[in-house]
Amino acid sequence: MNLYEFQGREILNSFSIKVPDGIVASTPEESVQAAKKILENTKKKSLVIKAQIHAGGRGKSGGIQIAKSLKEVYEKSKSILGKYLITPQTSKKGKLVRKVLISEDVYSNSYIYDEYYISIFMNRDIEKNIIVFSKEGGMDIEEVYKNHPDKIYTEEIDPGLGIQFFQIKRIGFLFNLKGSYLNNKFRDFVISLYKAYLYYDALLLEINPLIKTLDNEMMAVDTKIVLDNNALFRHKKYYDEMRRQKKEDPIEIEAFEAKLNFLKLNGNVGCMVNGAGLAMATMDMIKCCGGNPANFLDIGGDADTNRVEKAFRIILNDKSVKAILINIFGGIVRCDTVAEGIINSYRKRNHEIDIKKIPIVIRLQGTNENTAKKMLQTSQLPIYSADSLEEAANKIKEILL
Ligand code: GDP
Ligand code: MN
Repeated sequence: MNLYEFQGREILNSFSIKVPDGIVASTPEESVQAAKKILENTKKKSLVIKAQIHAGGRGKSGGIQIAKSLKEVYEKSKSILGKYLITPQTSKKGKLVRKVLISEDVYSNSYIYDEYYISIFMNRDIEKNIIVFSKEGGMDIEEVYKNHPDKIYTEEIDPGLGIQFFQIKRIGFLFNLKGSYLNNKFRDFVISLYKAYLYYDALLLEINPLIKTLDNEMMAVDTKIVLDNNALFRHKKYYDEMRRQKKEDPIEIEAFEAKLNFLKLNGNVGCMVNGAGLAMATMDMIKCCGGNPANFLDIGGDADTNRVEKAFRIILNDKSVKAILINIFGGIVRCDTVAEGIINSYRKRNHEIDIKKIPIVIRLQGTNENTAKKMLQTSQLPIYSADSLEEAANKIKEILL
C-alpha cells in the first residue's frame, strides 16, 4: 500500500523525526484555515501547497506551489484540488488530487543548509535491508543514478544484526557530518528511521529531499512510504484506510478481505486462476480467441475451499459475464479443493446471475485432478472440462460465437 506524503510525515513524526509543519486539506477553505495556523506557528511569510497523490515528480508538474498570501493559498489550492495531476511518474490520465498538504516553506529564509537523499528498502535477492544514500538530494534520484551512479551509495543491513554504528558513520561522513553531531543527533535520526521502517513493515521508506536546517536538524521534506499489504493487518489504521480506498467498489473489498488478487475489467469472460503469471497468460489466451476478460482474479497459491467459493461468487455477481474460464494448476492448491469451492458456491445460489446459462470451461491439472473431475461431473453444473489451454481457449471461442 502506498501512503500519501502527509501519512508518511505522521509516521516519521511519531518516531521523533522532524518534518515541516503541515496540515492536510480537502477544500480551498480548509487550506486557508490550515495556512492561518501554520503561519501563526512558524512566523513565516510563505507556504507550500503540495498535491497529495500516490506519485512523485510533483515539483516538475505544478503539484507543488508556493503561496505568499492567504488569497494565493485559496486560489492555488482551488486550482489543484479535484484536478488530475500528470507527472513523469503517473499515467497520461494523471492522478486525481483529493487532498493538498499545506506546509511551511522550508526553503525560505535560507532555512536550508544542505540537501540529501536517503531511503531504506528490502532487497529480496540478498535477503537484507538496504540503505541508499546520496548527497544529490532534492532532484530526480533516478536521473542521478543514470548519469552519476558513483554518487549513490548503499549500506546492506543484516536484519539479524540491525543497523551498525559504523554504517551510520559512513552515511554521516558522506553528508560531511562530524563529531558529537554525528555521534548523537545523526545517529539517533538514522536509528529512528530504521525503527520506523521495521515497525511499519515497510517495503520502502524514502526521504527526498532530506535537509539539514540552519539550526542543525535533519528534516524530512518529502517522504514516500510503501507498506507491505501482507502485514497490513498489523496496522489497523492503514488497513482501514485501504478499505476506505476500496469502498467505492464493494466487490474489491470482498476480494481484499478474502485475500484474493482481484481487478474488475470490462470484458465478458470471467476468469479464476491460481498464480498471477498464469492469470496473465489466461487473459492473453481469452483475448487471442476473441473474448475479453471480465476480470483478473488470482486466488493465490494457498487458497482453501472458502476462498475459492468467494472468488467464484464474485465472478457470478458480475452481470457482464457470459462465460467463465477456470484455469488451475494444482500444486499446493489441490484441484479437488477448487472443485469443492465451485460446487459449494453453486449450491448456495447466493449470486446474481443464472449459472445454468453461463457455461464454465475448466482446465484442472495437477494434484488430485481426477478426483476433481469426477466431483464436477456428478455435480451437473454446465461445465466443459479441457485438458490443455488450447482446448479451453477453443471452447470459449465456440461459446462466444
Ligand atoms: P516531488 O517532486 O513529488 O518529489 O515533491 P518534493 O516534495 O520532493 O518537492 C519537489 C520540489 O519542490 C523540491 O525539490 C523543491 O524545489 C520544491 N519544494 C518542496 N518543498 C518546498 C518548500 O517547502 N519550499 C519551497 N520553496 N520549495 C519546495
Ligand atoms: Mn521528492
